[in-house]
Amino acid sequence: MQKDQVLPELALLREAFQQGITRELTWRRSQLLALETFLVEREAEIASAVHDDFRKSAAETFLTETGYLLGEIRFTLKHLKSWLKPHRASVPLIYQPAKAYYSLEPYGVVLVIGAWNYPLQLCLAPLISVIAAGNCAVIKPSEHAPHTSAVIADGLTRYMDRRALCVVQGGVDEARALLEEQFDYIFYTGSQAVGREVMAAAARHLTPLTMELGGKCPCIVDEHADIRVAARRIVWAKFLNAGQTCLAPDYVLVHKKREAELLCSMQEAITAFYGDDPRMSPDYPSIVNEMHFRRLETLLAASSLPNEGQVDAGQRYVAPTILHGVVPSSALMQSEIFGPLLPVLVYQNLGEALGIIRDGQEPLAIYLFSSNRDVQKLVVTHSRSGGVCINDLLFQAAVHDLPFGGLGSSGFGRYHGKAGFETFSSPRSILQRAIYPDPALRYPPYTSRKLSFLKRLITFFPL
Ligand code: NAD
Repeated sequence: MQKDQVLPELALLREAFQQGITRELTWRRSQLLALETFLVEREAEIASAVHDDFRKSAAETFLTETGYLLGEIRFTLKHLKSWLKPHRASVPLIYQPAKAYYSLEPYGVVLVIGAWNYPLQLCLAPLISVIAAGNCAVIKPSEHAPHTSAVIADGLTRYMDRRALCVVQGGVDEARALLEEQFDYIFYTGSQAVGREVMAAAARHLTPLTMELGGKCPCIVDEHADIRVAARRIVWAKFLNAGQTCLAPDYVLVHKKREAELLCSMQEAITAFYGDDPRMSPDYPSIVNEMHFRRLETLLAASSLPNEGQVDAGQRYVAPTILHGVVPSSALMQSEIFGPLLPVLVYQNLGEALGIIRDGQEPLAIYLFSSNRDVQKLVVTHSRSGGVCINDLLFQAAVHDLPFGGLGSSGFGRYHGKAGFETFSSPRSILQRAIYPDPALRYPPYTSRKLSFLKRLITFFPL
């Protein structure tokens, strides 16, 4: 792609920001309402685009994309005015008379690079926070969900302020060309490998950024768990989007005593949700592309376990597959699975399960099923991750008031709700002092008398 295709729009966005258009509360509110109108009026078209991309059902698209975004817009509209209030800071007596506060200022023009697995949400949820914080934005949806990408581009052009917001469709070349430009903030969602490249590009311009990456999210099923509910919830969270969810349970760690019961209940749940042949289920999506299909097929072959899942290259179908008897050294445990294969590992005591988690990279989330409060406390205090959800999965990301993001290799920075508003805002500290008094004490020459007086003063009125 030619660089000058992107440049004219960027120049327009910068101008809009310089003119202060996006700083006005009325503008922020109007754009959030316009986004809401787009999502409501074009709901059917959006659902059909996501379906065309990877056969995701309209119900799942509403639950995880449009419905979530509508909630986030309403939450933001409700709280935006209070988030914008300046924050007062206390001033030590020695600096009085003075007034100190900080305000949250927009950065300028933000680049949002989205991933394909929740193609609408991963572009528009950051956009809500970008707008709330008073910024302009360039949105780069994923090329692996081209139908959704086209709907986003069309919707944003028709419904929203083109002076301040634009969409650049395309793939790696377009993303790289964009990263040549200087943005004021970069928000990236995707794989760790590409994340490194994005960070290197951001470093060239010293641009601050957020990284929303993937990883292996463990799910512990303790001996005190309600197995039937745990099985249903794990199966739902794992096979939603055919396992192509950054927050999906990547593997299960089950207490030895409950292994057989859990395996049986999970198999029952798969049949109850998707029927005897999930290939025929309208609620079971396909794998997004050939490359990911082949990757999963290879992984399944390498696992060489007795209950292999079924695959169909023509439909890019991989059956919901539970793999038991897996050990930490197995191929399935070496990298994020990001598909409908669920390894189950057995542990004898909680320390062993926590050790397996600690030996891996920091996950985006840790899940635990246990009714024992001591176990719940132990898991929270003896592990590290972006988030934790006890006795359920995924919903920690649906609570608008909870910051969402990773830790270490699963990323850094937070968004959703107020955390998103703060991510795209830069705190600006303002101190306003009185002209008088203006004692000679602060100015050179610093005689020994002055210094000893200063020391005494600071003893009584600490800084
Ligand atoms: P992807 O291939 O859609 O890539 C993400 C974006 O990066 C796309 O817009 C793509 O065009 C762009 N891109 C690709 N190569 C690039 C390059 N060299 N330079 C700049 N941009 C480039 O998605 P993916 O990477 O396959 O995403 C899957 C990963 O994302 C998984 O690891 C998943 O766990 C993670 N993920 C994380 C979150 C989260 O919120 N933490 C959410 C969704 C997905």
